[in-house]
Amino acid sequence: MPIDATQLYDDQNIFAKILRGEIPNRTVYEDEWALAFHDINPQAPEHVLVIPKGAYVCWDDFSAKASEAEIAGFVRAVGHVARTMGLVEPGYRLLANTGFDAHQEVPHLHVHIFGGKPLGPMLVR
Ligand code: AMP
Repeated sequence: MPIDATQLYDDQNIFAKILRGEIPNRTVYEDEWALAFHDINPQAPEHVLVIPKGAYVCWDDFSAKASEAEIAGFVRAVGHVARTMGLVEPGYRLLANTGFDAHQEVPHLHVHIFGGKPLGPMLVR
């Protein structure tokens, strides 16, 4: 079910539980600002999610309310993960679904990193 991007943060969402260690994950990278882990239902040979440690529903919430340090830390973490996965030279795709029309399902900001094969042109079906 897609979520309302304007809703208040719900700390019972699955990624909040992952951040608290209540649900296991396959961690790729973690620092002060972000956690990166393998998507449970990969859509490409490489499919990793990067989430901020702070409580933000979506990209809109994060870009409006996060501190400069949180934004810098998160953006640098996304770049670091893609780089250490060896995806810069072959290329990769970032995706941050926001709200109903994008079919965002988990109400904690996450950036998808896709790679590991030619991904083709961007599709907006
Ligand atoms: P979105 O549609 O952008 O909200 O994507 C949510 C993503 O979270 C989907 O790609 C799911 O496969 C992924 N996902 C859901 N639960 C888990 C989990 N426990 N561990 C890893 N990935 C998950």
